[in-house]
Amino acid sequence: MSPREEAPDVDRLARSMLRLYGAHDDHEEHDHGENAEIRERNFAGAPDFVSDPDRAAAVREATLRDRERYLTYGLVSVDCRFCHSAVQVKKLGPAHTSVQWNAEASQRCAYFAEIRQAGGESARARTCPRLADSIKHAVAEGCLEEVSSAPSPGDG
Ligand SMILES: [Zn+2]
Repeated sequence: MSPREEAPDVDRLARSMLRLYGAHDDHEEHDHGENAEIRERNFAGAPDFVSDPDRAAAVREATLRDRERYLTYGLVSVDCRFCHSAVQVKKLGPAHTSVQWNAEASQRCAYFAEIRQAGGESARARTCPRLADSIKHAVAEGCLEEVSSAPSPGDG
């Protein structure tokens, strides 16, 4: 493109920009009024339409957090030193230990496997005695609190 051809284009562009600007000026007041009206409508509708679902979601989230806290707070993962199944343990007192077995851990536990092989019900065995030793070790090593300081469900 040569400069001679370019120059008129720039002039035309500048003129059309001025025209557009002028045209914009002509309609500005009208546009502004229209937009202001729409903004006002949206603002008036906001409390019902936006805030309530947000609050409901926040409440729902807090409830889930609380439930999660009650279920998992104070639980410590302990590996059975014998069969290496990992269970979630919470000491509720010197003689009260809450152990949460998952499906993988109970399948993996050699003690439960022995019971199953002997034709017994592994679900009837309350816990693996080797795991009980591992829990004692975990307490001795400071990995697990002797009595969990975490609030128990229902304490609020
Ligand atoms: Zn075991």
